[in-house]
Amino acid sequence: MIKTVEIDVFPQNIEKLDLLRKLAVKKLKLQPRDCKDFRIVKRSLDARKRPIYKIRCEINTVRKFEEQIPIRKILKDVKSAQEVIIIGAGPAGYFAALECIKQGLRPIVLDRGKDVRARRRDLKAIQQDAIVNPHSNYCFGEGGAGTYSDGKLYTRSHKRGNIQHILEILVDHGAKSDILIDAHPHIGSNKLPNIVSAIRETIEENGGQVLFDHWVKELLIHDDKITGVQCANGQEFIAKHFILATGHSARDIYQLLDKHSIEMSAKDFAIGVRIEHPQTLIDEIQYRLKDRGEYLPAASYRVACQVKGQGVFSFCMCPGGLIVPAATAPGELVVNGMSLSRRDSPYSNSGFVTSISVKDLNRKGYSGTFACLDFQKEIEQRFFKNGTGDQQAPAQRITDFVEGRVSSTLPDTSYIPGIYSADMHELLPDFVGDLLKQSLVQLKGRMPKYYTEEAQFIGLESRTSAPISIPRNDNLEHPKLKGLYPCGEGAGYAGGILSACMDGMRVAKAIAQSIAN
Ligand SMILES: Cc1cc2nc3c(=O)[nH]c(=O)nc-3n(C[C@H](O)[C@H](O)[C@H](O)COP(=O)(O)OP(=O)(O)OC[C@H]3O[C@@H](n4cnc5c(N)ncnc54)[C@H](O)[C@@H]3O)c2cc1C
Repeated sequence: MIKTVEIDVFPQNIEKLDLLRKLAVKKLKLQPRDCKDFRIVKRSLDARKRPIYKIRCEINTVRKFEEQIPIRKILKDVKSAQEVIIIGAGPAGYFAALECIKQGLRPIVLDRGKDVRARRRDLKAIQQDAIVNPHSNYCFGEGGAGTYSDGKLYTRSHKRGNIQHILEILVDHGAKSDILIDAHPHIGSNKLPNIVSAIRETIEENGGQVLFDHWVKELLIHDDKITGVQCANGQEFIAKHFILATGHSARDIYQLLDKHSIEMSAKDFAIGVRIEHPQTLIDEIQYRLKDRGEYLPAASYRVACQVKGQGVFSFCMCPGGLIVPAATAPGELVVNGMSLSRRDSPYSNSGFVTSISVKDLNRKGYSGTFACLDFQKEIEQRFFKNGTGDQQAPAQRITDFVEGRVSSTLPDTSYIPGIYSADMHELLPDFVGDLLKQSLVQLKGRMPKYYTEEAQFIGLESRTSAPISIPRNDNLEHPKLKGLYPCGEGAGYAGGILSACMDGMRVAKAIAQSIAN
């Protein structure tokens, strides 16, 4: 029989399994001999009073819990099976590939970028020399935008798939098993590359193929069917099923689909800035402790404001993190956030953004499928043009932003290419600047310590989600182009690593289903 119980544990004790077992046995009023096996199923930090972990445990009073069989052990060789071409080696593409293998199909993954290790050199070039390689950057290359990200594994789209299964696959490939129990699991960008390359090995060991430097530039279409894709190196890949998982930054893919008159539509997205605080200040606000000590993690937060019926919200908050340059082409400036597994940088950063609706942009004169993308691109170029150096980012203390003056000095920052003082109201569209300002005024009342001259805005945060969506029917196929399966964040079906993984698996299952029928 399995009995479940929740125990409260101080942060310094969460790794002491014997103690946790004793506490659980005691709370269930069992004898120690009744506990044949013990496991933790959920762990969350409650910081409302004194920070304490709520730990949900299970005790098996009859036998040991069954061990999960790692996915790698149940996959079969698919070398001679029907091929599915997957464009994009991001979370959606790689999880689609794993699911293809599980379904007895042979995935061939094409990515414009480089493998995780080679990609690192290009990230250094953006950070230190402001050189943006349009095929290898924080968004493009093996593992997609998910590799050098924060690696927060949290999604609200529980309906779309089995989150636990995805976490188990990540653990099978080297992630710490803590992610299976933490309420807000996190991996960190120093750990993700090894996990991503281990997934590639699983794909290849089972007969799949992963090809880097394969930039898909053309679609081969006959009647209303996609029959192949052509890469920039001239190589063609012919198949019956194509998964398009190119992420939200593959603007050339949207252009390519448009050239072939393949239906797409403009999609709401969000735009704003990154807000950076000293981490100690966020810890103090959240934990009400001057020093969080060695056992508590860097504190995170979530804020949301309503201004004239429009929402402004924190996005992809990175405690103990870094702000990084996430542009995918020269001549644009985009920032994003990431963190290492220890989350031990002295800074906290978060997107501070507002939703941009297609309707609003239509009213402002942007029209058609590219309404949101054109707007996004225009602002990114404006932020770039105002730069004093290629990837230097404009910044402003939030107090100065509200009071309408350019900051005479700026706080230190985690953003390696550097920041310079600018009037963010001049760079942001008026309505966005106004909404962000009104939100800060609200937060000044609600969270006085958060509203501080030690915090600054750094811009621009504009790649929050895809500005275009690609339709699909009930079989997850494009309604007008047979054989094309739009997938992941770039097609508008995911908003983060987990949901992209889930979507990749769903699409691969749908292809297997259509072949079986
Ligand atoms: C810095 C940063 C931090 C982030 N932090 C988090 C986080 O903590 N948690 C979270 O859930 N999400 C985070 N995200 C978002 C997350 O990474 C994305 O939601 C996710 O990666 C989307 O997955 P995807 O597979 O749909 O697309 P992507 O990851 O964007 O992958 C698309 C792939 O397609 C390839 N590609 C593009 N065009 C072509 C082409 N023409 N031919 C061949 N290949 C092509 C690209 O090289 C890329 O590898 C972060 C993103 C960034 C940039």
